[in-house]
Amino acid sequence: MKKKRLIFLELTKNNFIQTTNLLADALFSTTRGRKTHTFTHTHIRSFDYSIKTRTISIITTKTALSIIMSTTTSKLFAQKTILRGNALGKSISKSAKRSSPSACRVVRTMASSTTLPIDLRGKKAFIAGVADDNGFGWAIAKALSQAGADVILGTWVPALNIFETSYRRGKFDESRKLSDGSLMEFAKIYPMDAVFDTMDDVPEDVKANKRYAGNEKWTVSEVAECVEKDFGKIDILVHSLANGREVAKPLLETSREGYLGAISASSYSNIAMLQKFGPLMNKGGACISLTYLASERIIPGYGGGMSSAKAALESDTRVLAFEAGRKWGIRVNTISAGPLGSRAAKAIGFIDDMINYSMTNAPLSEKPLDAIEVGHTAAFLCSPLASAITGSTIYVDNGLNCMGVATDSKSIPDRS
Ligand code: NAD
Repeated sequence: MKKKRLIFLELTKNNFIQTTNLLADALFSTTRGRKTHTFTHTHIRSFDYSIKTRTISIITTKTALSIIMSTTTSKLFAQKTILRGNALGKSISKSAKRSSPSACRVVRTMASSTTLPIDLRGKKAFIAGVADDNGFGWAIAKALSQAGADVILGTWVPALNIFETSYRRGKFDESRKLSDGSLMEFAKIYPMDAVFDTMDDVPEDVKANKRYAGNEKWTVSEVAECVEKDFGKIDILVHSLANGREVAKPLLETSREGYLGAISASSYSNIAMLQKFGPLMNKGGACISLTYLASERIIPGYGGGMSSAKAALESDTRVLAFEAGRKWGIRVNTISAGPLGSRAAKAIGFIDDMINYSMTNAPLSEKPLDAIEVGHTAAFLCSPLASAITGSTIYVDNGLNCMGVATDSKSIPDRS
């Protein structure tokens, strides 16, 4: 098959990124007339780009080239904007908005091999529960960005200021790096408190609290309304938050208020989010929450009703999968994650012991769980590759949940 080489040179920095995105989009799938053409490695031999020399090179079949050229890229040529590089941003801004640099990686994989990619380009994800770069929410944001999704955040109001300041000052730049060296960007960060559904639910002392001052529209229903107004429909909803004031207390010593507070912040908040965001989710969309083994096995020290909250979250996942599946055609799953030294976990007080325990006793014991492993699982669960998975609790914990005994127990000789 005859192949054609197409080279774009001397683009400006901005135009380089935008052109690469545009081409990545076009190479992945192009609609001409009523027909959508999806290209594979048989059509696209290679798709290479160098940020250093700002060069994009494509080797493709003549037919694929003509289809690609006759749609988006032909406009660029017609306007002779590619070599000069001016006005390009304008002409492709819509596509560039939809796309992201990570699209290029996806297409590169598609073009050069037969691997099965996670492609979330064009999808919009709302993630609640990111306030630094240590937790599972951040890792999920990163994995979804890497797969091409646009990520919108909902950050707990009292934590928002410090998060935004650190973000602006570049504190997270190293952790924002995606595999091609570009930095993960958030489409928008909303203030949010998942404990309140509407402003009528908010007590006066919270309204007057100085950590809430200057912020508005942060209850769950208000955030959903703002997201709809700003972004329209979304495809992915992530609940990565929990809070239980009396977590350090055994259940036997937990107050009614502490117990109900843990359930409200850690499990009802998931129902509230789905209630309010469900109507603005596209059919085929997916919801993810984060749970913990303490829901089904005794983990002394994880108290204050938090174990009950996680049990409720897992049960709700099944019921919501049924209801939201029938109502909106979306999937609902939860990830049961192994121990991670996040800010929330450190506040509980014994996370280092739990990580050590896992590394000693889990089937996979060579390294501690990396948050990105949960991120990758979330990306898979939110992708069409997981289209038949719903109502499930998926363990991402190096297999710790399978163990019936602790291998380092003094009463059991080591048989590993
Ligand atoms: P984290 O500190 O990164 O995330 C918790 C987030 O919840 C924080 O950003 C916090 O600001 C937010 N939050 C608390 N109350 C809120 C509220 N009312 N409204 C909105 N946001 C609120 O810690 P993490 O460990 O990554 O926690 C994320 C999820 O993972 C939680 O559901 C947690 O229970 C779960 N999880 C954690 C572990 C672990 O070992 N770290 C293990 C299994 C499951």
